Amino acid sequence: MGAPLFDRVALIGIGLIGSSLAHVLRQRGLAGHIAGHARSRRTRDKAVELGLVDSIHDRPAGAVGGADLVIICVPVGAYAEVAQAIAPALAQGAIVSDVGSVKQAVVRDVGPYLPDGVHFVPGHPVAGTEHSGPESGFAELFVDRWCILTPPPGTDPAAVEKLSLLWRRCGSQVEIMEPAHHDAVLAITSHLPHLIAYTIVGTATDLEGTTQKEVIKFSAGGFRDFTRIAASDPVMWRDVFLNNREAVLEMLGRFTEDLTALQRAIRWGEGDKLEALFTRTRAIRRGIIDAKQA
Ligand code: NAP
Repeated sequence: MGAPLFDRVALIGIGLIGSSLAHVLRQRGLAGHIAGHARSRRTRDKAVELGLVDSIHDRPAGAVGGADLVIICVPVGAYAEVAQAIAPALAQGAIVSDVGSVKQAVVRDVGPYLPDGVHFVPGHPVAGTEHSGPESGFAELFVDRWCILTPPPGTDPAAVEKLSLLWRRCGSQVEIMEPAHHDAVLAITSHLPHLIAYTIVGTATDLEGTTQKEVIKFSAGGFRDFTRIAASDPVMWRDVFLNNREAVLEMLGRFTEDLTALQRAIRWGEGDKLEALFTRTRAIRRGIIDAKQA
């Protein structure tokens, strides 16, 4: 296994992503010591019980002391508070990263608090499930998935390379992007699909004349796949939409236009238009399977 890549890794937040990182860091011997912070007693106890961490801290600053890598794994709405709390305890030369699903807001909320001599390399593993909490993590979550890093201009390339190596050792492929580009791409590939799922499940359960029992009974008709996505953590997703507002609204506008065009095609019986679109989308699905992202 060789020497650990980092001597002490601090995980701030031990939910799905934090606990998955803890599993893979352990399994692959990537950290000499894993220090964890969670705000609730329950999560801290669970993290210890599951053997996810070598030390557990009720304050984030306690976990980051002496760490050469800090990864923030809480909902993005809590980032500014966390950054403020950890800043005075950060070691010189430490890398500070995160796993948040939006990136411009992270640069805005964390960057200003970090002292000189600390390397800030925001990240986003494009991997997840609808489950949350410390019990939901598993070491293979990041295997064959992309991890996007968005280092600000001027970041030490050695820090970016070291963090990239960590993600590659976790099984991921790494891509470097501008934060704004990340947010636009993820708005369409992740954020909008979640918004649609939340909407459709809400609409179906509001329908008069269709009982909830029927919605559940006949869910295999397609609805079921949306309910999986719509079961994702409410706080995490609230924060994603509040912190990627512009890009999501832009994609939502385009989506609404396309939906209206489909509505019109159905109304006027334009089967060729429907078939052409469905043929195009089927090919996209095949491309995703070929790229092993299904
Ligand atoms: P999660 O399972 O719900 O865990 C969240 C963790 O953050 C818990 O340890 C929780 O503490 C802590 N936390 C919540 N609110 C907090 C606050 N206000 N202050 C301090 N700590 C707080 O969430 P997750 O799915 O791991 O998501 C974590 C991050 O990963 C998010 O930024 C999300 O955007 C990103 N991400 C998620 C996915 C996904 O599919 N879930 C994929 C990629 C990236 P307690 O348990 O003590 O309450």
